[in-house]
Amino acid sequence: MSHCILQIALDTPLDSVFDYRWPCAPGAEPQPGQLALVDFGRREAVGLIVAVKRETDVPAGKLKDAIAVRSQLSPLPERWLALASFAADYYQRPLGEVALPGLPKNLRVATTVPLDRAIKKLARLDVASDPAPAGMPVLNPAQQQAADAIGGAQGFAPQLLYGVTGSGKTEVYLQACAQVLAREPDAQILVMVPEINLTPQLEGNIRARFPGLLVATLHSGLSEGERMFSWLAAHEGRARIVLGTRLAILASLPNLKLIVIDEEHDPSYKQQEGLRYSARDLAVWRARQLGIPIVLGSATPSLESWHHAQTGRYRKLELRERAVKDAVLPRVRVVDTERDRPKDGLSSQLLAALRQRMERGEQSLLFLNRRGYAPVLTCEACGWISNCRRCSATMVLHKPEHRLRCHHCSLELRIPRACPDCGNVDLQPLGRGTQRVEEGLQAMFPQARILRIDADSTRRKGAAQAAFDTVHRGEVDILVGTQMVAKGHDFKKLTLVGVLNPDTALFSQDYRASERLFAQLMQVAGRAGRAGRVDGGSESEVLLQTRYASHPLYAAVASHDYDRFAGGLLAERKQAFLPPFMYQALLRAEARELAEAIAFLDMARTLVETDAAITINDPIPMTMTRVHNVDRAQLLVESSSRPALQAFLKVWLAALRAVKTRVRWSLEVDPLDI
Ligand code: ADP
Ligand code: ZN
Ligand code: ZN
Repeated sequence: MSHCILQIALDTPLDSVFDYRWPCAPGAEPQPGQLALVDFGRREAVGLIVAVKRETDVPAGKLKDAIAVRSQLSPLPERWLALASFAADYYQRPLGEVALPGLPKNLRVATTVPLDRAIKKLARLDVASDPAPAGMPVLNPAQQQAADAIGGAQGFAPQLLYGVTGSGKTEVYLQACAQVLAREPDAQILVMVPEINLTPQLEGNIRARFPGLLVATLHSGLSEGERMFSWLAAHEGRARIVLGTRLAILASLPNLKLIVIDEEHDPSYKQQEGLRYSARDLAVWRARQLGIPIVLGSATPSLESWHHAQTGRYRKLELRERAVKDAVLPRVRVVDTERDRPKDGLSSQLLAALRQRMERGEQSLLFLNRRGYAPVLTCEACGWISNCRRCSATMVLHKPEHRLRCHHCSLELRIPRACPDCGNVDLQPLGRGTQRVEEGLQAMFPQARILRIDADSTRRKGAAQAAFDTVHRGEVDILVGTQMVAKGHDFKKLTLVGVLNPDTALFSQDYRASERLFAQLMQVAGRAGRAGRVDGGSESEVLLQTRYASHPLYAAVASHDYDRFAGGLLAERKQAFLPPFMYQALLRAEARELAEAIAFLDMARTLVETDAAITINDPIPMTMTRVHNVDRAQLLVESSSRPALQAFLKVWLAALRAVKTRVRWSLEVDPLDI
């Protein structure tokens, strides 16, 4: 028996491709894309075969045999391997770390037991495929034009679907999908949403529209069995529509013919740890690789996508009106809290508007991007404040849970009975979070059904879904929530949105803060009045409470003028040499002492030679410097040329990896928070 060499990627932090020997019967060699079980260090691990070769540089005495090759699973397609390689290369991470974690756990466990058992049982859930769509509403002309443009596009065709909130983008996606499925008998479509909470409503719409079709979901809330089922259904081409969050971009989809990215502006498309990839950007790459259309939809596109649409790289499709007859964008009132001082967080204008909705049996939403009861507990006698002892942050008062909690390191303490410094028993909460707003509302509207939706109220599995269902059933009068409630949801009975204290973002150091705040306010405003005005009901309204009532950002929200606002921001970015006119990477360092982190970055800065195309800035402490007893600093690298930046990063990282240091460091390409 002759032998071949399997080049195998393993999920390891450093260089992750290793050679193993394998007996190769002629004509029955393993193929790239298959999984193999190997000895690695002192353990066994499952890896991905990326190449099958005749020779290796590993000396014969050191070369190990692979233990087994998983033959039941058809190999991951070559184009999928190319996607994983691109992502690894672009984000400067080892291939194994990109390719393996996305696979279902059952495929990755180090066992030689055949896979069949899991799979067969779940496969019974499979249904016959029949792409005849059911119950399609009549599109308005703008929707029809967009659906035809997407559904009829050939080859790589990136399109930006810019449609105001409630303009019926979902319906455009569904009908574009229907066109593709009708034309291409085996087509698979990937539909992505930024947040897991947005999957149920869209999943329901998709299933209702395509009753005979196998629809699979991929997100972090699935059980291992469900994930295995969905992943395999996608990999085997049986799932015709795959609906998922950002991790779905790495699903194996051999017959992928269309990609839909809903709410494309949403920062949640960016993974914030480990492999810090942008699922949206990878989706565009994947569409180009496969030569297929992709649609990016939003009422508030990211400046990157908007810029591409302005320069013609993306085709722009526009929906300027709301879809439902009589539904118009809500009237936005900017409430000056210097004049109309809030009591328990509510101005008299907002209070009156809430009363009116209560009387008419309509729903209201209060949006406050701060969970907990109050961000700080203080002692007015001596000035003590509830600082976290491990972070440069305060511990947040959580009243129902009787706890102080740090939102950065999850330290929890019982609420102190008295000031730890001076013994004063009269400690005061300072500021206002969703719990406190909820408490105030309960006192003001004892008869109202009030529901709070935030990360705390939805911790249990299924709790978020149950809460959103309650809202959709009309069993809630006033909804209080964080950004969780601001996105995407199609609340049909909601006619009032109150925005409490959005001002802090106006003064953030992060140059993206205003883009984000604007998008967030436009999105939350877009939850009001989506079903039109019914039976003498209220005009839909947004009340925006601010101390800076004349700020141009709020004026732009009030006039629903995304175009002009985005144009202004882009001009600023261009002048200041910021993305999308610059490409950036961020080197982060963590150490016990800030000085150590900074010293490491100073060293990193001069480690390799740079040319004029690359700018390396000074190291600076991160805004939130200390988290969990670790100090953090960062170094920003910039270039106006993406290839130049990529080339530099490659050389730089090779040199950095050779440095012996106690400092923990990581690199992020195209960082979102700097
Ligand atoms: P968007 O995602 O653009 O914010 P949605 O897709 O949620 O908006 O649509 C908003 C509402 O309009 C939904 O209730 C949807 O059912 C309705 N809708 C969409 N298209 C049409 C249409 N052509 N005729 C009537 N109603 C429509
Ligand atoms: Zn005190
Ligand atoms: Zn902390």
